[in-house]
Amino acid sequence: MLDLSKSGSEGRGGMALMENQTRNPASAQAAHGGQTAAERFGVVERPDLTYTPEVAEATAHLYERVKDHIPAFEWPVYAPYVHAINKLKKERGAVILAHNYQTPEIFHCVSDIVGDSLQLAREATLVDAEIIVQCGVHFMAETSKLLNPEKTILIPDVKAGCSLSESITGADVRLLKERYPGVPVVTYVNTSADVKAETDVCCTSSNAVAVVESFDSDTVLCIPDEYLAMNVAKQTSKKILTWKGHCEVHERFTAAELLAYKEADPTIEIIGHPECHPDVIAVCDYSGSTSGMINYVKDTRPSRVLLVTECSMASNIESEVPDVDFVKPCNLCPHMKRITLPKILDSLVNMTEEVIVDPAIADRARLAVERMINLKN
Ligand code: SF4
Repeated sequence: MLDLSKSGSEGRGGMALMENQTRNPASAQAAHGGQTAAERFGVVERPDLTYTPEVAEATAHLYERVKDHIPAFEWPVYAPYVHAINKLKKERGAVILAHNYQTPEIFHCVSDIVGDSLQLAREATLVDAEIIVQCGVHFMAETSKLLNPEKTILIPDVKAGCSLSESITGADVRLLKERYPGVPVVTYVNTSADVKAETDVCCTSSNAVAVVESFDSDTVLCIPDEYLAMNVAKQTSKKILTWKGHCEVHERFTAAELLAYKEADPTIEIIGHPECHPDVIAVCDYSGSTSGMINYVKDTRPSRVLLVTECSMASNIESEVPDVDFVKPCNLCPHMKRITLPKILDSLVNMTEEVIVDPAIADRARLAVERMINLKN
């Protein structure tokens, strides 16, 4: 039988977060009256995880949402976690935010709000809950913390990193600014708070062109995603300087691979994320952020579609568009997959891992994110 306690990837060999992304318990305690989240909210007993008739009944409607992805014989392993998380979430008054790349049992069965990183950060500012459990990677939880300094932000696995975020440090950006004095710095939200603190305005994959165009300068630093910057450069007359960061999921796609799909079925629509190489985007019928891709599929209802992005996203939306046939070249993000039901339960039981940003960095980083949010585009 499936053992959920062993599920989830260890990522890039258990890659440790870089110094600028580490937790800072001293600041955490300073920010919350000298107490950790466990001290403030208390630790509770781990719930019984037996698959009882009561659990089966309480979770039956949730299984309907994931039955195409989880075989019925495996549900008795998932259901006790789903039931325990939903119960404890209510008792704690917590809200669970899940990124579009989370697995279907997290996305459909325990989350309260789903979306891309910017949507989640914005939603985090709107929820009443004092506790937010962020099911995504560390920079997303950090962004939620930046925008919600008074709230308690928990991430079920603090090692859930990101190859883009970890490609650059605040010190690297300071060196770039020395080398290119006066050139505005636009950084992708997929970066640490330390990098955001050195930034003029953040951007997402959906608004990067508008953010770059918002500056008077003829030259703009657009970092750290080299491919996003190259895709932006095709849509602006400004000179774009960039950095050699890549998303390890999106960089694996090739134009030749996608053209082979097209050759096999000319009716297939190919929809790509701008973190892919420009040669890949050139053979796509549409390119946009994860939310943009989802909206495109919902609005246009292609008969067959290939989403050139993390594999779980197709699984998460296919029940909403049953008339669409998804072709899935399955590239998974090992960092996103560190988040599992057992770890979410542990987070709620033990009030860990609390996400903290040094207040001196947070104030500057928040400005860069807020400037992006306030840009009219
Ligand atoms: S999919 Fe790519 S950009 Fe997103 S978290 Fe994973 S490595 Fe980072």
